[in-house]
Amino acid sequence: MIQVQDLKKAFGANQVLDGISTDICQGEVVAIIGPSGSGKSTFLRSLNLLEVPTGGKILFEGTDITDPKVDINRHRQKIGMVFQQFNLFPHKTVKQNIMMAPVALKLMTKEEASKRADELLARVGLPDKANAYPDMLSGGQKQRIAIARSLAMNPDVMLFDEPTSALDPEMVGEVLELMKELAKSGMTMVVVTHEMGFAREVATRVLFIDDGKIQEQNSPKEFFENPKNPRLKEFLSKVL
Ligand code: ADP
Ligand code: MG
Repeated sequence: MIQVQDLKKAFGANQVLDGISTDICQGEVVAIIGPSGSGKSTFLRSLNLLEVPTGGKILFEGTDITDPKVDINRHRQKIGMVFQQFNLFPHKTVKQNIMMAPVALKLMTKEEASKRADELLARVGLPDKANAYPDMLSGGQKQRIAIARSLAMNPDVMLFDEPTSALDPEMVGEVLELMKELAKSGMTMVVVTHEMGFAREVATRVLFIDDGKIQEQNSPKEFFENPKNPRLKEFLSKVL
């Protein structure tokens, strides 16, 4: 689904991504871990061109989206993204937040989007919050709505950038549980996370990014039980 070939990104003299290559296949759940500032967000944001690479290629469903001639907005519709900060529109209700993109982009009629929003509200366990405003929700509820809003576009892949890092501890579980359900349903997911339990239990593959490169990638079992890269060993010894 996504082929990343020798991806590079520099901010001035700061070479943040220094040749990342990996393929993400349909149905995979790829967890990305690594130290703060190692380029995890930059990598994730590059996948839908929120950051423009300074080198290399990204093929999404066979199309080189780094080609300036490509209409990136068409591809972005297929790529859902969930951030640490939920980015819900505060002056719109929960349901309006979920309906907004598909209607604005004329992918659905209002009636279709409304029906889809109701389905998604049920799926994320918040059917009674349709008419609530984001301010009235807990952090965990806001993030579940942010996930529903991304799903409204029927994306082929969902990118998550530390989706539970801004949450109070007691709300982390409900969001991880929803993400686990999503993974079980077959959604292709790329998840930057500090939740090692989630990476171990739900991911099909775990990547360790440090120093602008993928230093190690493996099945969760091998990755956590038998890490080889010295930096990864050191990192795991601090976080586990
Ligand atoms: P991580 O998500 O792993 O913590 P980031 O991808 O956010 O790391 O950042 C990696 C490096 O890139 C950091 O040194 C950060 O300061 C730098 N960086 C990220 N975004 C920008 C930007 N828009 N302009 C300049 N430097 C940036
Ligand atoms: Mg980050």
